[in-house]
Amino acid sequence: MTRPRPKLLETTPAGLHCPIGGFYVDPVRPVDRAVITHGHSDHARWGCRHYLSARPGEPILRMRLSNEAEFEFLEYGEPRTIGGIQVSLHPAGHMLGSAQVRLEYQGEVAVVTGDYKLQSDATCADFEPVRCHTLVTESTFGLPIYQWREDVEIFADINDWWRTSAAEGKCCLLYGYAVGKSQRLLSGLDPSIGPIYTHGAVEKGVQAYRQSGVELPETMAVTRRIEMTGQSSETKLDSDESAEKSPKKRSRKRTAKLDWAGSIVVAVPSAHGTPWMRKFGAVSTAMASGWMAVRGARRRRAVDRGFVLSDHVDWSGLMNAIVWSEADDIWVTHGSTAVVSRFLNEGGLTERLIAERETDRHTIRACEIPSYWETATADSDVDDD
Ligand SMILES: [Zn+2]
Ligand SMILES: [Zn+2]
Repeated sequence: MTRPRPKLLETTPAGLHCPIGGFYVDPVRPVDRAVITHGHSDHARWGCRHYLSARPGEPILRMRLSNEAEFEFLEYGEPRTIGGIQVSLHPAGHMLGSAQVRLEYQGEVAVVTGDYKLQSDATCADFEPVRCHTLVTESTFGLPIYQWREDVEIFADINDWWRTSAAEGKCCLLYGYAVGKSQRLLSGLDPSIGPIYTHGAVEKGVQAYRQSGVELPETMAVTRRIEMTGQSSETKLDSDESAEKSPKKRSRKRTAKLDWAGSIVVAVPSAHGTPWMRKFGAVSTAMASGWMAVRGARRRRAVDRGFVLSDHVDWSGLMNAIVWSEADDIWVTHGSTAVVSRFLNEGGLTERLIAERETDRHTIRACEIPSYWETATADSDVDDD
């Protein structure tokens, strides 16, 4: 094919840039105009003047970013023209408000997936395949070993663990990232087993989700329960944040009187191994993350159980997304970029493309682009997994 293709995207030190439209997608430096795929901190960064993002994520973005910035929110699929580029946002299935960014100019279409997954998730809209010429895809878990099970099976395992631990008189501590993963975990918990409590950072995310109309089981912040039972004189010391930094024996003694047996506490991973968790008495601990699929990850985290629950696309999902997009130009970022682009360039998908695509474009070119979003690692606590 020889038609000249307008350059919709380029990589720059500030991130993915649309030179015609004069904006960036998930910029890593402060810029004038940013289109944001979702509210995780490695995608929605401080300091830009104008942010455009998907409406369902509004409470999360407002919670995370400066109030002084200008915000604009679009419904999924709603077109908006910026500098001659038609921009629209389409569900990415990653977390509440997560969007793929579609750019169109003179018939040329590019899509930036941001983080995404194909598994269903009760807390956000399902991933929507979008056809394009150029697909910029993440590849956090872009290795054939990563194949996710369906949510229902994982939640059945989590609820079984909770039920068993409750019968043993223990409190369950379930760790997941504060915004996104934790709310997805909450959506799968069976409230008939016992009360559900939250770490302060998780509860803030819960409030943002509820504001956007997501239904979650009843929760109560751990600090709130402590206050309500009349042990509020030490509230400051018992608050989730300060207890980690300044444990006081007196306050721990007071809060230990509360009975947490049979309940589950959804908390951020950084709370594990801190004095904060001592208030709960006998506990069973678990981590929910895609990284739990990696041998030794549970042991390194020093938790009793590891549940493989990821908010990123797995290997087959990634291949499906590429086939469905009908793109012939694939930019791979964030994660296993070398493996994925080599697989595509060596014809790993060719047979499938010929069989499934109703098009003559059955060869694709892939390239690696800088992993702007890669501030989060397996052990980071700021983002998602
Ligand atoms: Zn994310
Ligand atoms: Zn990310």
